[in-house]
Amino acid sequence: MAKCVMVLYPDPIDGYPPRYARDGIPVIKCYPDGSSLPTPSAIDFKPGEMLGCVSGALGLRKFFEDNGHELVVTSDKDGPDSEFERELPDAEIVISQPFWPAYITRERFAKAPRLRLALTAGIGSDHVDLDEARARGVTVAEETYSNSISVAEHTVMQILALVRNFVPSHRWVIDGGWNIADCVECAYDLEGMDVGVIAAGRIGRAVLERLRPFGVHLHYFDVHRLPADVEKDLNVVYHRDVESLARSVDVVSIHSPLIAQTHHMFDEKLLGSMRRGSYLVNTARAEQTDQRAIVAALQSGQLAGYAGDVWYPQPPPSDHPWRSMPNNAMTPHVSGTTLSAQARYAAGTREILEDWFAGKPIRSEYLIVEGGRFAGTGAKSYAH
Ligand code: NDP
Repeated sequence: MAKCVMVLYPDPIDGYPPRYARDGIPVIKCYPDGSSLPTPSAIDFKPGEMLGCVSGALGLRKFFEDNGHELVVTSDKDGPDSEFERELPDAEIVISQPFWPAYITRERFAKAPRLRLALTAGIGSDHVDLDEARARGVTVAEETYSNSISVAEHTVMQILALVRNFVPSHRWVIDGGWNIADCVECAYDLEGMDVGVIAAGRIGRAVLERLRPFGVHLHYFDVHRLPADVEKDLNVVYHRDVESLARSVDVVSIHSPLIAQTHHMFDEKLLGSMRRGSYLVNTARAEQTDQRAIVAALQSGQLAGYAGDVWYPQPPPSDHPWRSMPNNAMTPHVSGTTLSAQARYAAGTREILEDWFAGKPIRSEYLIVEGGRFAGTGAKSYAH
């Protein structure tokens, strides 16, 4: 019998389950690269239900009960008195989502001597100290591709929200106004602009594909170049470094993993090298930008807008400067946890658990760390 601690975001303030707007979600047959969606033996939820909050328990309560394992679900995750830390000492499995991350630091690893599996429900396992996971032989896994398109859609929405000045215009309507000049004094068309992505992986490439019909000039930087036929098809210009891309475009969208090379990549110097009035969108990880430099660039007008859904820490304090900085179109970390995405990563989490308990190999595309080293997707994304 294993003990699993699941850290999920709190239930909706109006109670659980919510009143759903729709009766289900479309059936997706496979991911854009042809790889298969999760293949658990069964699921105990209806796709489209809220699974990512405490009462949703990723649809896994019955699975744990039926298999005689102990499951603790909590949203209380920060500080030494949190339920998460109290439950850690005898936990074998920890499951958490990047939207409400249970940070598994070196200190917390030391408090969890029985921990064998750190599972990310979603994508992005940088809330786990991966060096420590390797040193301790803890397996780290996530559900690759489960919410990549969800994030790409959110990114396109936020680019348009900034360039077209959506948020202030919406606010005028709510406030009873009809102030057209105030709405449009900083509204532009995206058409004709230079738009660049940092990293053309699953999400970055999906953003490029979605933006292509907007009649923009596309650019990208990645450590590895896309195949020539893909570049040609997207009509996208490759830049050898991030500096070249940043000074050549009007809009930048960040889709690289958070690793040493990308930590605080958008600092005062890089921001200062961009065209005045550029837009920056970050749905990857907050620490790829320098928090204070972003605020200063918005205040000076060097940046015309900043949007994204990733913050540090999560949740951010109520006085976090990004809540009140000018010209922002920020959301909480929601892009990858739509009801559609939840159905996929909850099923993927179950698939991984079924394999784990049966002693079968976990799909290589789900693996980040295994056997003391980066493995599968982790060997590609994090081992730079
Ligand atoms: P992928 O692994 O598919 O793509 C990442 C890309 O980044 C790869 O092409 C990789 O190149 C490239 N890369 C690696 N190092 C660098 C670098 N130093 N500079 C520029 N590019 C680099 O990941 P996804 O597209 O699925 O996800 C990207 C990130 O988005 C995740 O790391 C995660 O942090 C974030 N994310 C956010 C979510 C949200 O809800 N907001 C949800 C899901 C993910 P190569 O493979 O050739 O090494």
